Amino acid sequence: MGLLDGKTALIFGVANDHSIAWGITQALHREGATIGLSYAGEVLERRVKPLAASIGVDFVEPCDVSSDEEIRVLMEKARQAFGGIDILVHSIAFANRDELSGGFHETSREGFHLAMDISVYSLIAVAHAALPIMRDNSSILTLTYLGSVRAFPNYNVMGVAKAALEASVRYLALDLGASEKHIRVNAISAGPIRTLSAAGVSGFKGLHSRFREIAPLRRNIGIEEVGNAAAYLGSDLSAGVTGEVHYVDAGYNIVGLPIADDSS
Ligand code: NAP
Repeated sequence: MGLLDGKTALIFGVANDHSIAWGITQALHREGATIGLSYAGEVLERRVKPLAASIGVDFVEPCDVSSDEEIRVLMEKARQAFGGIDILVHSIAFANRDELSGGFHETSREGFHLAMDISVYSLIAVAHAALPIMRDNSSILTLTYLGSVRAFPNYNVMGVAKAALEASVRYLALDLGASEKHIRVNAISAGPIRTLSAAGVSGFKGLHSRFREIAPLRRNIGIEEVGNAAAYLGSDLSAGVTGEVHYVDAGYNIVGLPIADDSS
């Protein structure tokens, strides 16, 4: 018996086998969920299709979340393939590289809009479009980072986007929890993980290696750990949990004075 037997999950954001969405896909699949994958565009098709095939998933569809029409078409395909969905995973963010280095005050209006559109509004758009096919007591999940509540060098506009994303989780949880379907909405705040997106943040490598010196568990976290937390949040075990930001960060966020082991 898997935790997610009988449930269907639609997952956005697999770019390759390092993606957090891939860790989530593997955990949800292991727990018995039927999986549908959506990827950003043609360039990724080559990488995502073989991954999907490796776990026997044949629903693999493109969707650029900046397009309401593409989201609508994807949801219609999901309706035809699955009838309904129980778990929706949004593991998507984007900002131009030049917004992720240097001064935050230099953020361009255009770059700000783009980051907010792809990294925040897309959660609202996808949740809204999915509503007709979300089943009763279903679960929506997104991915955030501590940069929403603390200021990190170079994370810049993405920190502001993550703050807006976490607020959107709370507003969606209020709306959708009270709907007749009683849908839950939560975020996982993951510690730093080496992925394609993370490589776009200037200085990420240093941040990633300093992390383990400060985190209470004295190590980095991996996509499989985020996947396991997602399996819990997608399952009935978390039936009473909504509007939450759940940290999967080896405890980093609770540290008061971040002094590395070698400091005295
Ligand atoms: P990733 O593998 O690069 O995944 C990001 C995904 O977003 C990619 O599949 C990307 O596709 C997709 N995306 C970007 N623009 C899109 C669009 N217009 N339409 C549809 N999809 C689009 O990196 P990741 O680290 O796993 O990121 C997943 C989520 O976790 C993000 O929200 C990220 O902020 C969050 N997170 C990451 C970390 C970390 O340290 N890695 C920590 C905490 C939270 P393309 O490759 O085509 O752009």
